[in-house]
Amino acid sequence: MNEIAEIINGTLHSGIPVKITEYSIDSRTVVSPEHTLFFALTGSNHNGHDYISTLYANGMRAFVINEYREEFTTLTEANFIHVENVLVALQQLARHHRQQIITPVIGITGSNGKTIVKEWIYQLMSASNSLKIYRSPRSYNSQVGVPLSLLGIEHDTDYSIIEAGISRKGEMSRLEKMIQPTIGIFTHLGDAHDENFTSKEEKLAEKAKLFRSCKWVIGQAGETLEHIRSYLPSSVSFLLWGEDKNADVQTETLYISKGHRHVQVYYKGHVFTLEIPFSDLVSYENCMNAVCLLLWMSTPVDILAERVRHLSTIAMRMEIKDGINHCTLVNDYYNSDPSSFRMALNMLAIQDATKERVVILSDFMDTGMDKEELYTLVSQMLCVANISLFIGIGKQLCKYRHIFPDNSRFYEDTEHFLRQEERDNFNNQIILIKGARAFQFEYIAGFLQKQSHSTILEVDLDAMVHNLNHFRSLTDAHIAVMVKAFSYGSGSREIASLLQYHRVDYLMVAFADEGIELRAAGITIPIAVMNPEREAFDNMIMFNLEPEIYALDILEDFNRALNKHGIKRFPVHIKLNTGMNRSGFDEQDLPHLLEFFQTERSVYIRSMFSHLAGSDETMHDEFTLGQIHLFERMTERIQAQFNYKIWRHILNSAGIERFPQYHFDMVRLGIGLHGISATHANLQPVSSFKTYISSIRKVPEGQSIGYGRKSYTTRPSRIAVIPVGYADGLNRHLSNRVGNVFIKGKRVPIIGNICMDTCMIDVTDTNAAIGDEVEIFGKHILVSELSEQLGTIPYEILTGISHRVKRVYYKE
Ligand SMILES: *Cc1c(COP(=O)(O)O)cnc(C)c1O
Repeated sequence: MNEIAEIINGTLHSGIPVKITEYSIDSRTVVSPEHTLFFALTGSNHNGHDYISTLYANGMRAFVINEYREEFTTLTEANFIHVENVLVALQQLARHHRQQIITPVIGITGSNGKTIVKEWIYQLMSASNSLKIYRSPRSYNSQVGVPLSLLGIEHDTDYSIIEAGISRKGEMSRLEKMIQPTIGIFTHLGDAHDENFTSKEEKLAEKAKLFRSCKWVIGQAGETLEHIRSYLPSSVSFLLWGEDKNADVQTETLYISKGHRHVQVYYKGHVFTLEIPFSDLVSYENCMNAVCLLLWMSTPVDILAERVRHLSTIAMRMEIKDGINHCTLVNDYYNSDPSSFRMALNMLAIQDATKERVVILSDFMDTGMDKEELYTLVSQMLCVANISLFIGIGKQLCKYRHIFPDNSRFYEDTEHFLRQEERDNFNNQIILIKGARAFQFEYIAGFLQKQSHSTILEVDLDAMVHNLNHFRSLTDAHIAVMVKAFSYGSGSREIASLLQYHRVDYLMVAFADEGIELRAAGITIPIAVMNPEREAFDNMIMFNLEPEIYALDILEDFNRALNKHGIKRFPVHIKLNTGMNRSGFDEQDLPHLLEFFQTERSVYIRSMFSHLAGSDETMHDEFTLGQIHLFERMTERIQAQFNYKIWRHILNSAGIERFPQYHFDMVRLGIGLHGISATHANLQPVSSFKTYISSIRKVPEGQSIGYGRKSYTTRPSRIAVIPVGYADGLNRHLSNRVGNVFIKGKRVPIIGNICMDTCMIDVTDTNAAIGDEVEIFGKHILVSELSEQLGTIPYEILTGISHRVKRVYYKE
């Protein structure tokens, strides 16, 4: 500890001696607490110092802090290193650790393709068993991710591959100081994060900083790399590839056949052909960047060509799907290695807390770790993650079965699993399916997946978190998220679990039943109910669901229910009417309300709030300000009668964006979480309504299509059927070329009247085939575009997707 304290310039308050082997910033994912050093980072909405006492109770004894709290004095065994800035300390430690590594470190940056290039380099290198290669887990490439990645490098590692991602100026210098790459790779300059840079040049200059002290830089020959060269000292050499005659590695695409691209390469007098098992340009770029690194390592070209032929796609997504017998499947086909396994366990941790957890795992491939040690670590992780059943597949796991709990099951390979397990062995569980590619766990996923019609609403959890963080960045107030109406159509349990994990302060539902469902799913954060019904009072009290009180008689009845249960200080939320004229106390009702509180009461006013009628439109701004001022007046009057602080809140999503001076104590986020902004903020679409082509028919010119014969073909046409109709939530007004869908990069019109379960689309102008994916709305056709077309609002479209449409969740 002394040494670490010295490296990070901190003051050590010593406790018991500890041996640190792990570093953590997230209190939820610690595997061996007694050997972990916890960095108490402080973000806009969470403070690592809040978790120290809990971590201590779990056995952790080493913490880096920037504020010493009274409560820490009771943690007598703990070691604290007190620093000025915890993030800086983490980065200093990583930098120091990096300096001890003498083998090459490869630093990758660029707007897109970093993770793929990293993984492909890994695939190409690890085909040689003699190398020990380390790479940053998933896309750990930020100011926090990079130091954690670096701290994972071991002293006998031969090559380390580290991703560096930035979103604003000044960040790359800090990353460069830590990574100090020996070789740099620049993947691709895209438009991501453009809003934080004044120009493309500025962004490029920032990215180039990663390469300042590199010996070599790899990239595609051309203008971008010339720009980068101009920012770097002449001590940096370049290895550039491209069709350009002056490229160091000259390439030429010979032909593309059966989805493979055949590329001729000229390098230092060698001529050889690569068969890249992908045809698209992006894969070509990514592959060539990886190939150049292997050339730089002097890999013999025939061996390299052989390995390139076997490159495989990188599944970056983790998918959550409904399984058989009320199971939930978490599929992760990303690499199998301990750090990505840990992340997958995290994903499992945020699912429905009431269900048992099952893990189906294959042998880890090429990790270079001692096997006994590796599987002991896995077994510990299972224990921490509260896994009730472990199923191991592969020869290694069979061999080390004694390390795992007694009820575990083991199979030599996937085929034996499928032959010996029955579907009914799985019931009401959350199942993580994680296997190395060679094990073909897709078959296990298929075996356990619920089979049904595959029109889906795909929910992008990363986009949702992005949107949440955007709103967080706008406010210091508490955040309540409205999860009424099945979370605006996206699903209640899954979304509430995600929000709880990301530590929002409140959830609000429309009816008590919705709240009870969330409690049953293991949601423990406060939940408010906007339409509390008297019949549900007992349940609300039992499940800790806090009512919105919009009239005196409700308050009296609720207070009576509390007295019956002998409960005191139950939180309620007082709704005030300031102009919406839907529900709530008017200003003239306040004397009665306050009179009610003159006697001792069982309820406790947690908050008082109101709702704006036109917060998204400038034309109503005067009215809105009037509402807010009335709200201030009414709440001051109420607050004056109480000796405890009552929270105030009035803003919905549009209000949060447009009236930053009125956030008060809490804000209520709704549609914004789903990517709809009143101010064109940089939000991401969350839900995609998708289906696939189930059949295609050739129809001659002049024929009518569908019911009522409303559309005719005007040329020989190809008409596709998609299994989605108005019963799924596809609005019938989109019939007859009003609406479009998106297939293979193109919009095509809906033709004929939309039927109950199906509709027809005109795919004449595309090469669409049966089985192709069709987007009804999502990332290409925005919900807001659709709602405008239909003369309604995005809320109605999102909440109108039928419950029979399966919700599928994913994250990168
Ligand atoms: C639905 C709702 C919100 C959220 O509104 P958005 O426009 O979706 O942000 C906020 N407050 C109340 C009372 C609501 O009913």
